[in-house]
Amino acid sequence: MQTTTLLDVSPVLGLQLIKDRALERSLLFEERAGGLILDLPFGQICATEEKSGLRLTLYADDQMKLHLLQEAVDHRLDEAALAPQRQWSLTRPGIAPPNLTFTTVESCDRIYPSYYRVRLSGLALERFSRDGLHFRLLFPPESHLGQWPFLAESGRVEWPGGISHWHRPVYTTRSVDLERGTLDFDVFAHDGGRVTNWCSTLRQGAEVAIMGPGGEWLTSARWIALLGDETALPAIARVLQDLPPESEGIATILTSDAGDKQELPTKSNVSVQWLVRGDGICLVQELKRLRIPDKDRFVWFAGERSEVNQAREMLVSLGLRKEEVRAASYWTR
Ligand SMILES: Cc1cc2nc3c(=O)[nH]c(=O)nc-3n(C[C@H](O)[C@H](O)[C@H](O)COP(=O)(O)OP(=O)(O)OC[C@H]3O[C@@H](n4cnc5c(N)ncnc54)[C@H](O)[C@@H]3O)c2cc1C
Repeated sequence: MQTTTLLDVSPVLGLQLIKDRALERSLLFEERAGGLILDLPFGQICATEEKSGLRLTLYADDQMKLHLLQEAVDHRLDEAALAPQRQWSLTRPGIAPPNLTFTTVESCDRIYPSYYRVRLSGLALERFSRDGLHFRLLFPPESHLGQWPFLAESGRVEWPGGISHWHRPVYTTRSVDLERGTLDFDVFAHDGGRVTNWCSTLRQGAEVAIMGPGGEWLTSARWIALLGDETALPAIARVLQDLPPESEGIATILTSDAGDKQELPTKSNVSVQWLVRGDGICLVQELKRLRIPDKDRFVWFAGERSEVNQAREMLVSLGLRKEEVRAASYWTR
């Protein structure tokens, strides 16, 4: 399947942007006269220079993958404020986006001192076990309760009331049970959290809209360091679970309570270090202590925005290349 759009931008600028993003994420791309081809887990992006701009054509095996690919592209273009009025060729106006799924709450339990585990049931959950680690919970604005996103004439997603008025926090799929048709995710309970409050009153049978999955894990480096706080624990658990036996390194997890410590199965040789918040305990300090090998290495850091920025700067100053680092802001203080 394919969809295409002509971006009203300088082709040179557009191509450079794609190349920069590809290098940052260690994605494979092939340069051709007047364009490039970029391979992604969901499909392929083909960018070609035209007289009036840069043409992007996206290819994927099915409707879902094509939509996820288009969303990722739209997101990057919006971030860079490029060609905001773009029109995609494949449109199905009025229908729900293929990555929107309605689920029902099966349970919501305080499984660890700092976490609720929410179990959702529904159809079409399989993709959350393979196509990406994360998803968004969707909370419409008060003025548009009961209304959900749909595909517009442009081929893009339309959000009733405007996307900026929706609360769309990101969570990590902890596990999917395909036989039962359930998906589990863990919510770190913190003061003032809208999702924390939501969990405290959540009842079996409640309808929950989720959108995803997204956010892939992309490295084949042998040595890996994973550093994350409470919100990143579920992602670290998922990554450890999927790492091959030849991977080695360390995962450092900062928790709020010693009781949050849990078994994290892995076939790899990555050891797990648990830290409990307290005086002088900080993930950036832990990063400083790491003995990072010279090559075949990858450092992943996720947590509060300002710490993530410090970690990114530190890793760059230590000489790690962009593709050897992933520093992700999971929340903002
Ligand atoms: C890719 C990704 C995956 C994530 N996976 C998970 C996950 O699996 N489990 C999980 O619990 N979180 C996860 N998060 C973090 C989660 O999305 C944020 O913490 C989010 O802000 C929670 O929304 P909220 O509605 O509870 O809080 P908001 O209503 O957005 O924020 C309310 C207040 O809470 C504060 N706040 C937000 N997060 C925290 C925190 N961690 N500690 C202290 N104060 C905080 C804010 O500063 C704000 O003042 C993930 C984030 C990303 C980007």
